Order: sequence, then C-alpha cells, then structure tokens
Amino acid sequence: MTVFNFSAGPAVLPEPVLLKAQSELLNYRGSFQSVLELSHRSALFEGILDDATSLVRELLNVPDDYEILFLQGGATLQFSMLPMNLAQTKRVDFIDTGGWSQKAIADAAPYASTRIIASSQEDQYRSIPTGPFSSDADYLHVTWNNTLEGTTFREVPQVGVPLVADFSSSILSEPIDVSQFDVIYAGAQKNLGAAGMTLVIMKKNLLRRTPDALGSYLRYDIHAKHHSLYNTPPTYSIYLTKLVLEWMKEEGGLSAITARNRAQAAALYDALDRSTLFSNHVVHENRSLMNIPFSTGDETLDQAFLTYAERHGLVNLKGHRSVGGMRASLYNAMPDAGVEALITVLHTFEQGER
Ligand code: PMP
Repeated sequence: MTVFNFSAGPAVLPEPVLLKAQSELLNYRGSFQSVLELSHRSALFEGILDDATSLVRELLNVPDDYEILFLQGGATLQFSMLPMNLAQTKRVDFIDTGGWSQKAIADAAPYASTRIIASSQEDQYRSIPTGPFSSDADYLHVTWNNTLEGTTFREVPQVGVPLVADFSSSILSEPIDVSQFDVIYAGAQKNLGAAGMTLVIMKKNLLRRTPDALGSYLRYDIHAKHHSLYNTPPTYSIYLTKLVLEWMKEEGGLSAITARNRAQAAALYDALDRSTLFSNHVVHENRSLMNIPFSTGDETLDQAFLTYAERHGLVNLKGHRSVGGMRASLYNAMPDAGVEALITVLHTFEQGER
C-alpha cells in the first residue's frame, strides 16, 4: 500500500533522496566509508559541506554579503542565540502570529526586553497583521510561515531595523528576496532534510554584534569564521540537505517546486472551500502553501475522519493539539498523488463512506 505522510515535521522526504542515501550509505563515492563515518575534517565531508552551501546560495539567490551556516540544534536554539548575539541594547520586537512566535518571544525574554508590535491574536491567529510597522529595537522577529495555524506572511515588513525571520516550515517553498531580510533561519526537518540541523543565513555585518562575554559554541561569528566547522557539525543532516537541494535542482529548481506547491495547495483549498463538511478558517491572502489546517467543527467526526484517512494510507493528518482538527502539511516532497488521494478521501467521507 502507498502511504502518504502529511506530518508537520520530521516530514516526507523525496523518494529519490532516500534511495540515493541508501545507495551511498555503506560506501560513499568509492571511499568504502559511510557518510556517517566520515571525519568532518576530511576532504570528502568538506566537499559535501561546500556543495550544500553553494546549492543554498544558488537556489535561494543568496547575495555574497550573507553568511550561510549549518548549525546543530533545532530552530528552537535560535530563539535564544539570536538575542544572545544580536540584542546590543537588549531590546527585541516581535510580530506575534501564533504558537511559534510565542515560543520565540519567551526564549528571548531572559536576554532582552521583548515587545509585541503587532499581533493577530484577536483574530485567533487566522491572519497576519498588516503594516505599517514601526520598531527601534535591535531587531524585529517574525515567524514567516506559521506551522500550527496555517498562515503565512505575503509581504516583507518594512522597518528600519534588522529583520529576522523564522522560515522553518516554508524555506525553499517559494522564491524570496533574501536581501530584504537580515537573518533567515530554518530547522531542516521539513523542507531541507533530517532533524538535528538548522540553516542560518545571516547578513555579514551582524556578525560584529556578538558580545565578548558569550561562549564560543553560541557565537555566530565563530561558526562563520570556521565555515560551520568550529566543532563537529551535524554531518549526516548536512549530507541529506545536500541531497535534497540536488533533488530540487533536478526537479527544475525553485520555480518548478513553487509551481507544484501552488497547484497542490490551490487544489486542496478549493476542495475545502467547496466542501459542506470540512473548512479552513485562514483568511485567503494569508493561507500557507505548506501547512493547511481544517476541521469539521465536530471532534468526534474529526476523529472518525482521521481513522478513515489512515485506513486509506494517509497518515499524520492529526492537527496540532493547540489547534485541533486536522492539518495537511504539503512540503516540497509531497507528491501530487498524495494531495489527489487526500481530496478523494475528503469527498468520499463527506458522501458518508466510513
Ligand atoms: N519554528 C517553527 C515555525 C516551527 O514550525 C518549528 C518546529 N515545528 C520550530 C520553530 C522549532 O523547531 P525545532 O523543533 O527544530 O526546534
């Protein structure tokens, strides 16, 4: 039976990537060593790291004055590392768009005074606040795609301070103008590969901000100086990211991936909007391409649907506990057939099949 995995992360990976990883597992490029066994100082691993770095630069069109770092730890570590390094005057502003914004705010609080300059809480996080925004803090933090609530920014907030954006659940799903951001970060386990690594793209001038009194492991400037090889990096996660980025290129690059993502999301939103049983409550202009929450409005019926969907090979559709209902995560590796199967199952369940 074919199983389609709608998990929010760790999430579906492209099958060609898994097959390539399998074929190289025991003998990486004739070295008779597994990638898992390679020293991070070996020429073979340095080749993997260089390829991953240049593929990020190429696919996202990252300008030369940005550093590309592959750091250990989840995106959650960035919630603390960012204020530790960048909050010179100990003031950080946030746009609060849901659960992950709130976690970022809570983790910055020990290091800086935090201020919410806009929030969509009054709207139960079904939209993204609209500007104009104003900030005079050390930086403004936004959660670009809200994995739990299924919302996304569409316009880059314009403020005169550095803009830091959590792209964990939407990195490389659509083109972005990197030059409009100062820091972009994303955990790997959704669109980039395997858990254990976070991609950080940081404007080089910010590296000067790190205070002297900060341990080496927590310093962006040290990681940048050593090109992510200050200590042992998450070597296998970096390798998997390299394979995922190569796969993206083979698929036609970001424009081809974007077209597929838009078509898949449009098809699912259309099915939900037409349905008399299921609905998605996010305002249309802020609907995420990656995470699509929906429900029947009745917990028992939602549970019956989850069981029914699972019987048809559609797994991990349960919504986050803070939101309830269902959530379909359609990351880059989701095949069209998965979305088609979900739409069919929505329809047959609505027709009364159980
Ligand atoms: N930010 C966002 C938007 C996320 O979706 C997640 C994880 N789901 C995180 C941060 C935290 O990532 P991690 O679990 O890698 O620390």
